[in-house]
Amino acid sequence: MIKVIYPGSFDPITKGHMNIIEQACNLFDEVIVAIMHNPDKKEHFFTVEERLEIIKEIYKDNPKVKVMAPVGATVDIALEEGCVAIIRGLRSVSDYEYEIQIQQINKEISNNKVNTICLFADKDYQFVSSSVVKEVFHLKKDLTRYLDPIVISKMNEKR
Ligand code: ADP
Repeated sequence: MIKVIYPGSFDPITKGHMNIIEQACNLFDEVIVAIMHNPDKKEHFFTVEERLEIIKEIYKDNPKVKVMAPVGATVDIALEEGCVAIIRGLRSVSDYEYEIQIQQINKEISNNKVNTICLFADKDYQFVSSSVVKEVFHLKKDLTRYLDPIVISKMNEKR
């Protein structure tokens, strides 16, 4: 049973994130989607509890996907849950520059116990990010290209 953990803010989860989850499901037995509270991002659209509910609803029929909102360091949760690696998604060189730093820190703080595997964004979602999606939402434009219908309806409830 090979498990991996996919941490992120997922505010909201996009089809880009969902594509990474799908790629990971094709490679591993279980994918833990971990909604992490990022203290640098003070403004949020959905609360962590709302994100948890939304992502659980999206994956309710996929037994390979487990969703949680843990408190603490990703490496500690990865070890507690018996994950072989952290999954991250790469869209661009700027993602790479960020991810290479984080993976090194994660290796160091876990005494080399936790490694990171990067999966590439699909070309259809290379320019999709939670922040761009929120801008499109505020412009009242169609979001079906970027978001699952469950996310769109939850966003509309907030209008
Ligand atoms: P974080 O705040 O940790 O960056 P995000 O929710 O923005 O959280 O992203 C989580 C992970 O998913 C990151 O590795 C990010 O690069 C990746 N990601 C975000 N959007 C996409 C996308 N459209 N395609 C592939 N990977 C993505």
